[in-house]
Amino acid sequence: MLKADSIKPLASFATLGELEAYLSKGTVDVILCQICPACDAGLLLLSVLNRMHKSGQLEQLPSLFWMGETSMIALARPGDVSCASGLPAIGKTAWIKCMGGVPMTALESLARLARAAGIHVEILHQGDAMALNDALRAALLIHTKIDAVPAQATFDALAEDELINALTTGEGLRFVFQPQFDLLSRRVVGAEALVRWKHQRFGDIPPSLMIPLVNRLGLDLLLFSLVEMWAIKVMLALKHENCQIPIAVNASAKTLCTPQFAERLAARMRGVGLSTRLLKLELTEDVPEPDELLLSAALTAIRAKGFQISLDDFGVGAATMNLLVNISFDEMKIDGSFVRALGEYSSSGKVISGLVNWARLMTANVVAEGIEDESTIPMLHRLGCRVGQGYALARPMEFDDFMMFMKKQK
Ligand code: C2E
Ligand code: MG
Ligand code: MG
Repeated sequence: MLKADSIKPLASFATLGELEAYLSKGTVDVILCQICPACDAGLLLLSVLNRMHKSGQLEQLPSLFWMGETSMIALARPGDVSCASGLPAIGKTAWIKCMGGVPMTALESLARLARAAGIHVEILHQGDAMALNDALRAALLIHTKIDAVPAQATFDALAEDELINALTTGEGLRFVFQPQFDLLSRRVVGAEALVRWKHQRFGDIPPSLMIPLVNRLGLDLLLFSLVEMWAIKVMLALKHENCQIPIAVNASAKTLCTPQFAERLAARMRGVGLSTRLLKLELTEDVPEPDELLLSAALTAIRAKGFQISLDDFGVGAATMNLLVNISFDEMKIDGSFVRALGEYSSSGKVISGLVNWARLMTANVVAEGIEDESTIPMLHRLGCRVGQGYALARPMEFDDFMMFMKKQK
């Protein structure tokens, strides 16, 4: 597939040692690694990359694609009675999805850890050319170099000026809205505002690349103000249609801890005649706030003004027990990775049920994110998720499309 896409130079290695020697000689953009039962090199490669990077042997961390065949493997549990065939007894068996013998959940959590350590990891199904193309495109965006900039320049360095320009002039920026639904009645009960950025040379930049750069450049408050402006625009248009649903805007802890944040935001809502209950702030955890006391005070001040606070990506974020015990949230958004795994792994249902119970104990509402599969909606409802968001329900929409969608709901 890579040859057909005329990706070159291409090199292939049978052992980790050979690959390590090659990596120490030059820059590599992407490593494709087969995940198969007889070989754990793909998994061990993470620590090799980490070590080489830390010791300065790597100019650039390559992206790592794990590829393999997936299969369902029966997990025998203690106490299971085996049938005569030697297979675990039907009804007592937990089936787990594996790639090359490794449970997908384990691969996914390893990939999350790797991403946190700065190594871009993708998990791809064998033969899925479209997914491979998308992953290559994203990896090349990360690693693109042009002649005018130093060789080790990353996407971040290349895009800095353009991002500053986009945020100050609005050029190339768009704002989209994804509805949230009551999972039983399918009524729209809210929406989340999301930013989109089209780079002049690189095209659409996924927020997963853009937001870390925004944070690194300290432009988070500026981005927040732009999204908030669009959220207010939508709220006013909805009010005109006699529809008052809350609109959620993502904000890092750093943004929410800005001095006078709550007062200024409340004054802006008052200024346009909107109730503060209509704006929800989703605490994203991409920049964890080390000073939990400050964060706790800031969130309390924001809630005191009537805004709702939601904890985004509940279950995978960096929220410590301390934070969860000391701060009450109006809402917790169960991360899409659990929701997408529902129906594939029996453990996801248990995790979701645990998160829902936790949220209930904290008297917070629950939103299930990333619902891609219609068939998981009744399961989510049974597990206690009353509200959900995801492609199976509605994709994020431009302002006009969203307003049209909302009018049709009436
Ligand atoms: P998030 O806040 O958890 O947003 C939900 C993400 O899930 C969005 O990705 C949305 O497009 C995507 N999504 C919705 N339904 C589905 C689904 O069924 N399947 C899958 N796979 N994904 C779904 P997006 O827009 O790419 O944003 C990614 C993250 O970037 C967001 O995660 C949020 O943390 C951050 N982000 C996006 N827009 C903004 C923004 O305006 N400000 C800030 N600070 N962060 C933003
Ligand atoms: Mg969010
Ligand atoms: Mg989320």
